[in-house]
Amino acid sequence: MNPSQYPSRLIEQAVEEISKLPGIGKKSALRLALHLLKRPEIQSVQLASSIVKLRTETRFCRNCHMISDDELCGICSSKKRDESLICVVEDAKDVLAIENTGQFNGLYHVLGGIISPMSGISPSDLKIDSLLERVKSNEVQEVILGLSPTMEGDTTAFYLTKKLKEFSVKISTIARGIPIGGDLEYTDEITLGRSIVSRVTYK
Ligand code: ZN
Repeated sequence: MNPSQYPSRLIEQAVEEISKLPGIGKKSALRLALHLLKRPEIQSVQLASSIVKLRTETRFCRNCHMISDDELCGICSSKKRDESLICVVEDAKDVLAIENTGQFNGLYHVLGGIISPMSGISPSDLKIDSLLERVKSNEVQEVILGLSPTMEGDTTAFYLTKKLKEFSVKISTIARGIPIGGDLEYTDEITLGRSIVSRVTYK
């Protein structure tokens, strides 16, 4: 990059960091940096401190690996949830999407990613052992695979099914109201809600 395109080294550094965020190019990053310089100093200090806290103090539920303030998340510690049902998802954002539908009353298991040889993500990088442990040691009757209908999602579903077969647990997958190749996150709430209610046995 041509260094003279920024008025100062500090601006350049800020642009470098901000533009690492998804969906933010160098131009937007510069605009944000200049915006912060115009605002009171305290705003930048608070922003920086909330980002550091987010990264250093956020905890994950020891049971389902969802983002949590405590050792157990609100869903796992709730007495109102059906513990015989576990919905396996890729990410925390999928839990939020399914919770928004209000159609699911079971528990979750957040894998923390999806099997993707292209991106170098193998089963051992994901929270699969703890899922098998939960199925083995609890009264789990059904595991719902709530993964995106992409090639990686299908690969992950296939792998999990193979692993889960040794337990007497029903395996189902959310119905494909979701467009093929689509992301759970972008599916509208009604479609996603319907998909989870009318889930189908995995074959
Ligand atoms: Zn939890």
